[in-house]
Amino acid sequence: MSQILDGNRVRDLIKAECGPRVQRLHERAGRPPGLAVVLVGSNPASQVYVRNKTKTASDLGIYSETITPDPAITTEGLLKLIRVLNGRPEIDGILVQLPLPGHIDEQAVLLEVAPEKDVDGFHPLNMGLLATGRPGLRPCTPAGVIQILKRHDIPMAGRNAVVVGRSTIVGKPMALLLLAENATVTICHSKTKDLAAVCRTADILVAAIGRAAMITADYIRPGAVVIDVGMNQVTDRAEAERIFDAAKLEAFEKRGSLLVGDVHPGDMARLASAWTPVPGGVGPLTIAMLMQNTVEAAERRTGCAPDA
Ligand code: NDP
Repeated sequence: MSQILDGNRVRDLIKAECGPRVQRLHERAGRPPGLAVVLVGSNPASQVYVRNKTKTASDLGIYSETITPDPAITTEGLLKLIRVLNGRPEIDGILVQLPLPGHIDEQAVLLEVAPEKDVDGFHPLNMGLLATGRPGLRPCTPAGVIQILKRHDIPMAGRNAVVVGRSTIVGKPMALLLLAENATVTICHSKTKDLAAVCRTADILVAAIGRAAMITADYIRPGAVVIDVGMNQVTDRAEAERIFDAAKLEAFEKRGSLLVGDVHPGDMARLASAWTPVPGGVGPLTIAMLMQNTVEAAERRTGCAPDA
């Protein structure tokens, strides 16, 4: 019987742990942690993500504000805005919702965020701290994966971990975090030769690719732990038939689309010893880790760390 790794439960635990830390900050620093979210343009998915982030912040007693500059704002204009947020003492975390409109230099903007307020963990300084094993703000999604594994008592030390995907947001920091847990890590990408064979060496397989149900039975070693980071919307009927069982196909027919990860759900459930469902696996962790990073940034900036 394989184990479903319940991301919603881990999310709730992490959020519950933030509560007393927010309270302590109130008592000791005289203010809540503060999060500024910068949203440029009207990408509907981004709007939903930002609403979910600020709603969660508010539920936890974290002050948040959403800044929506004119969509025509230039890179220089956005850099100025970030500098203002960097200088505001009551703001502990700055999150620039991606993607930014094409005319804006995304890398320049992310580089401008003060590393101690970089709650997304994307700044090269925070990446460097991660790579060199020093404390710092970690990227939320891969940090959430580590929490899922730890809180389900899945050992990482000495195990072969294969990460498919090498993005700065997920794949690379995921590999570094697994390495920090003493896993033996292999990183794969679109140029990897015989990907299925490499994946079959994994005790822990993490898929962060962005391709609907690409990882099928021949990529999964029976008994492996499989973490599916992918979030893909399936709209094609033939593709849906390849991926979903009868019950899910019925839901697909009704809605016209359905969310799926990068791993074939049926193959994963059949072969893995433990696995994250989509939805309900990795997804819920990203916002919880953002909240945890905001609290941590506030603790560091105010000198109110739990053991201080
Ligand atoms: P990117 O597109 O930035 O990176 C995708 C990676 O997958 C690249 O490294 C790419 O390789 C690799 N890749 C693409 N095609 C193949 C292939 N055929 N074989 C092997 N490797 C391949 O995506 P992200 O890292 O941002 O996101 C990955 C997935 O995770 C997406 O589905 C995204 O929606 C999801 N996601 C989920 C989050 C959550 O909260 N659950 C948060 C963030 C992302 P190469 O570098 O060679 O091009």
